[in-house]
Amino acid sequence: MKNLYNALNLKKLLTLKELGFNFIDPIEEFKESNIELPNNLQSLKKIANSCHLCQLSKSRTNVVFGEGNEKAQLMFVGEGPGATEDATGRPFVGRAGELLTKMIENVLYIKRSEVYIANIVKCRPPNNRTPTPTEALTCRPYLLKQIEIIKPKLIVALGSTAYRYLTNDNTPISKIRGNIIDLKDFSLIATYHPSYLLRNPSAKKEAYVDMLKVKEFLNL
Ligand code: SF4
Repeated sequence: MKNLYNALNLKKLLTLKELGFNFIDPIEEFKESNIELPNNLQSLKKIANSCHLCQLSKSRTNVVFGEGNEKAQLMFVGEGPGATEDATGRPFVGRAGELLTKMIENVLYIKRSEVYIANIVKCRPPNNRTPTPTEALTCRPYLLKQIEIIKPKLIVALGSTAYRYLTNDNTPISKIRGNIIDLKDFSLIATYHPSYLLRNPSAKKEAYVDMLKVKEFLNL
C-alpha cells in the first residue's frame, strides 16, 4: 500500500501548501494513518468511485472499477478505460471489448460473466494515451486489492502496460507473450491488447494460440 500512502501524503502536502504552510513537522504529519483498503469489492468500489488521487480524476466521466465474477479463476487486466468505458463506467465495452468478449466466448467457451475484467488505471487517460508511471502506480493498489479479494488462478495481462505494472518487468510483449509465468499468488500470461489486434489483425493468430494456453492451463 506504499504508493497509496505516498499519494495521500503528497495530496496532503499540496493542500497544506495551498493553505500557506511552508514547513511541517515530518514526524507528526507523516505518521502512517490508518489507511487500509477494504477486503470486499463493494466497499473498495465505493472508495475508487470517489478517488481523486491522480490527475486522471479531472477528466474522467466515470471511474471504471471492473466487473465480473467475484470468485473468478480467470481475470483479464487491460491498460485503462477508453471513451466508451469512460461514458458507461464498464470495462471493455467498446470495439476492443467486443473482441475480448469474442476471445472469451468463442475460444475459451465460457461466458464473459464468468471472468473478472479490470484495468491498471480506473480512469480514462485523455486521448487514450498510455498512463504515466505515476498514474499507474498510484492506481495499482486498487487492482492489487481486487486480485487479493478475487484470488484468480490465472491473470491474462492484455498488452505491455498491464504486463509491466503487474510484474515490474519491462520485457516487450512480443517477447513475453504466451509464456505462463508463476508469480507468488497467481499465474500470469501476457497477450496482445485487443486494441492492438484491431489495428494489427495478423497478430490475432498469436493471440488465439495464447488463449488456447489459457484454456489448457485452466482445463476449460
Ligand atoms: S486513475 Fe485510479 S488513482 Fe487515479 S483518480 Fe482514478 S481511481 Fe484514483
